[in-house]
Amino acid sequence: MQIRVEGVDWFSTYQVHHRIAQHFNVGRTFLLGDAGHVHSPIGGQGMNTGTGDAINVAWKLADVMGRRAPAALLDSYEDERIGFARTLVKTTDKLFRRMVDPGEAGRFLRSWLLPNLLPFLSRQSFLRRSLFRTVSQTRLHYRHSFLSAERAGKVCGGDRLPLVRERF
Ligand SMILES: Cc1cc2nc3c(=O)[nH]c(=O)nc-3n(C[C@H](O)[C@H](O)[C@H](O)COP(=O)(O)OP(=O)(O)OC[C@H]3O[C@@H](n4cnc5c(N)ncnc54)[C@H](O)[C@@H]3O)c2cc1C
Repeated sequence: MQIRVEGVDWFSTYQVHHRIAQHFNVGRTFLLGDAGHVHSPIGGQGMNTGTGDAINVAWKLADVMGRRAPAALLDSYEDERIGFARTLVKTTDKLFRRMVDPGEAGRFLRSWLLPNLLPFLSRQSFLRRSLFRTVSQTRLHYRHSFLSAERAGKVCGGDRLPLVRERF
C-alpha cells in the first residue's frame, strides 16, 4: 500500500539510549522499568518489560513485608529479570543500528528488504506465531530461577501456565 504524507501536525525528537544497570537490586533498593534498562522503541518492548519487572517484584515485596516469605525471596527479582533485559537491550541496539545505518546496507534494509519481506513473513503462520510469542513476551520463563523446581507433565516450575481448555 502506498502512503503519501501530506502534512505533519506535531513533531518531536528524543535521544535513544541503550543502557542497562549493573544490578536491579542492591540492599533495599530495587530498579525497574526504564530506570534499570532503556533501549530504542523498536519492537515496542520497553513498557511491557517494565510492567513485567513490577509484577515480579511487587508480590515478593508484599509477601516479605507481610512476613509470609523470607527476605531471600527478593534475591530472585534480579535473578529472574536481568537476563531478559540484557538480551533485549543488546538485540534492540543491534537492530536499531542496522535500521539507521546511513550506508548502502541500511538503505537496502529500510527501503527494500523490510517493506518486501515483512508482508511475506507475516503471512507464514509459523513465523507469525513465533513473532507473537517473542513480542508478547509469553516466551519468557523462569525455569532457571532458584525458586523453580519440579515439573508436572510438560509444565516445569517457572513456566507460564498454559491455557487450559475447560470441558463442559
Ligand atoms: C517513542 C517511544 C515509543 C515507545 N513505544 C513503546 C511501545 O510501543 N511499547 C512499549 O512497551 N514501550 C514503548 N516505549 C517505552 C516506554 O515508553 C517506556 O519503557 C516506559 O514508559 C517506561 O516507564 P517507566 O515508568 O519505567 O519510566 P518513565 O515512563 O520514564 O517514568 C519515570 C517517571 O519518573 C519521573 N521522575 C524522574 N526523576 C524523578 C525524580 N527525581 N522525582 C520524581 N519523579 C521523577 C519522570 O518524570 C517520569 O514521569 C516507547 C518509548 C518511546 C520513547
